[in-house]
Amino acid sequence: MNTSYQLFIDGVWREGSDGTRVPVVNPATEEAFAEVSWGTPHDASLALAAAEKALVAGGEWASWSPTRRGRFLSSVAALIRQNTAELSALFCLEHGKPPHQASGEVEDAARYLEYFGGWADKLTGMTIDLGPWQMNYVLREPLGVTVHIAPWNYPLDIFCRSVAPALAAGNTCVVKPAPEISLVTLALASLFQEAGLPAGVLNVIPGGPELGKVLTEDPRVRGIVFTGSVETGRKVLEAAARNITPVISMELGGKAASLVFVGDADELDGPAGGAAGAMAWNAGQSCGQRSRWYVRRDLYEPFLERVAERVRGLKVGPATQPGVSLGPLVSKRHYEKVMSYIHTGIEEGARLIAGGGRPENLGEHGYFVAPTVFADCHNGMRIVREEIFGPVISVIPVDNLDEAVALANDNMFGLSSEIWTSDVTTAHSVASRLDVGHVTINGSAAFGFEVPFGGVKLSGLGREGGPEAILAYTRLKNVWVNLK
Ligand code: NAD
Repeated sequence: MNTSYQLFIDGVWREGSDGTRVPVVNPATEEAFAEVSWGTPHDASLALAAAEKALVAGGEWASWSPTRRGRFLSSVAALIRQNTAELSALFCLEHGKPPHQASGEVEDAARYLEYFGGWADKLTGMTIDLGPWQMNYVLREPLGVTVHIAPWNYPLDIFCRSVAPALAAGNTCVVKPAPEISLVTLALASLFQEAGLPAGVLNVIPGGPELGKVLTEDPRVRGIVFTGSVETGRKVLEAAARNITPVISMELGGKAASLVFVGDADELDGPAGGAAGAMAWNAGQSCGQRSRWYVRRDLYEPFLERVAERVRGLKVGPATQPGVSLGPLVSKRHYEKVMSYIHTGIEEGARLIAGGGRPENLGEHGYFVAPTVFADCHNGMRIVREEIFGPVISVIPVDNLDEAVALANDNMFGLSSEIWTSDVTTAHSVASRLDVGHVTINGSAAFGFEVPFGGVKLSGLGREGGPEAILAYTRLKNVWVNLK
């Protein structure tokens, strides 16, 4: 396995301009297993210059037809699938995800490329009738250089869901992965290179917040895509405001509510499985994680019993062990944040039903947190209001649907939520009343390539996935022709 990684700028692998290399730590062992070059502001400038140069009319990228761009993205998807085993193994090591989740995300990455590749030759402009002596048409053009600032929780997914529409629409990209996770992104970039992407069209520079700041402040940038925390999202918006740079999408997290209103306790298997999944999937490090469970009072104690039973079946451990449902958290910093929320929950008087700290059987090393269920919670608690981003859920009894909807909407985030019910009227009326960008009825699906995904309130702006997502990577130019 490769243990030394470099920046990818202008089609060339190179060291950062000041020679800095940082260790990459396996979160299951806390040991470094590789090194990666770190980008500097100078490297950011080189990458933006390369991306700008690649756009020049008459250049290779500009001469590719939309059909060719679409076929190219499909060919990268095929290469990704051929390399699933290697990508997943690296992913497990760097991120800690269990193999089934790592390979699932590799497949998602391929699907994003295929989906948006399919759109490349379907983008159109239009003509506008102004009468016989004028002709008017509207061109749909790429924005130009787009900057993509990525988080660590779904690095492949989030890379492909924005880079794929950007390239399909003819833009060029500079990507800054999260400091915690850059190797899988660099590995993916090498597949774009292998498939024959012209130099400068895609550039990947690992680095920290300073690098992200430099990239978002540069006037050469014509579009910014950001996923991460609200606090950083505000800084990115401020940077974008200086140059009036369009922010294509901004996905800032969530505190999804799940409303349990099934007929009786015999129908609790689905929601109890959903609650266990909310802790197991990506160890809860998801913006769409169902972390608040509002349960009708007569179902409340049976629901807690079912969830506790499910949690006992979840195996926590390193991705290398067979049968692991959830791996370690991504970094020491994040582990400490999640543990501090667990202490807060206990101090706030929530009743601990399961978990509550580090699993006892896993020794001292690795950022492992046991799936943790808090009961008897209320909306005044910090564990209910704030994004924990770990394997922790809160359960709250409610008397009726109106109360559940009001409590679900009483949060600064508005990304996604769900309702569990077999009553079709309840399902659709609640879906329309939830103040979020995405509702699931009877399940925990959070996203799809073909559907718009994104939030309201502090969860952000713009949508990823679906046709609107690719339109956001284009701009309209009106051409007015006087015929007389
Ligand atoms: P963050 O917002 O600090 O980092 C996200 C990305 O932004 C990283 O690539 C980071 O290097 C970059 N960045 C940081 N400062 C920047 C700046 N001034 N300008 C441009 N880019 C900058 O998030 P984090 O520290 O990795 O995680 C903190 C919390 O954010 C998590 O605990 C979680 O609650 C939330 N989060 C949400 C998502 C999501 O999917 N919406 C993803 C990751 C983290």
